[in-house]
Amino acid sequence: MSRKFEGGRLVIASHNAGKVREIGELLAPFGTEVVSAGALGLPEPEETGESFVENAELKALAAATASGLPALADDSGLAVEALAGAPGIYSARWAGPSKDFAHAMAKVHSVLGDEKDRSARFVCALTLAWPDGHCESFEGIVEGDIVWPPRGENGFGYDPIFLPKGGTLTFGEMDAAAKHAISHRANAFALLVAACFKTG
Ligand code: IMP
Repeated sequence: MSRKFEGGRLVIASHNAGKVREIGELLAPFGTEVVSAGALGLPEPEETGESFVENAELKALAAATASGLPALADDSGLAVEALAGAPGIYSARWAGPSKDFAHAMAKVHSVLGDEKDRSARFVCALTLAWPDGHCESFEGIVEGDIVWPPRGENGFGYDPIFLPKGGTLTFGEMDAAAKHAISHRANAFALLVAACFKTG
């Protein structure tokens, strides 16, 4: 049996504004009172894990123990099939210290070259951690293809070059509701809610 979130304040253990916004939107229907790690002045731990789940757990645990509150962390990224899953857990790092995603998207495009297989997936691991060290983790994915040039101004990160399978709009062209209907983050969130939230 998964541990349930009993309500009260929940820390969003991320310093990424795009993720904090999307997690806030996903949590909105539950009336959960959220506070971001940045607003609490919590430090950003180094992501030393070797998988999305390991990194989500270390971020959630760091925020839960520092704040004394349950904390929800997201570790996510773009895994390109023909690049053996790169940039993967290094998705943020491909944008460099200035977080330049135009540069990161151009790097994906140039490393792919004229490779025919454009398939890629977004992966999201979500971990809910408690101050006593207990963790519950869930993973969601969405399959798609890399397109070039980038399309759309919505979302964040690699959204403008990600076309979900069967779709006509990139994540960068979709509005928030359309992205939440199919995204890796929303899929992981649905598993988290089913396991850890009291509904009904
Ligand atoms: P990290 O989880 O903090 O290591 O960062 C994950 C990185 O993956 C983000 O900075 C984005 O570049 C990318 N990423 C994760 N989720 C999304 C998404 O929903 N859209 C676009 N890029 C994403």
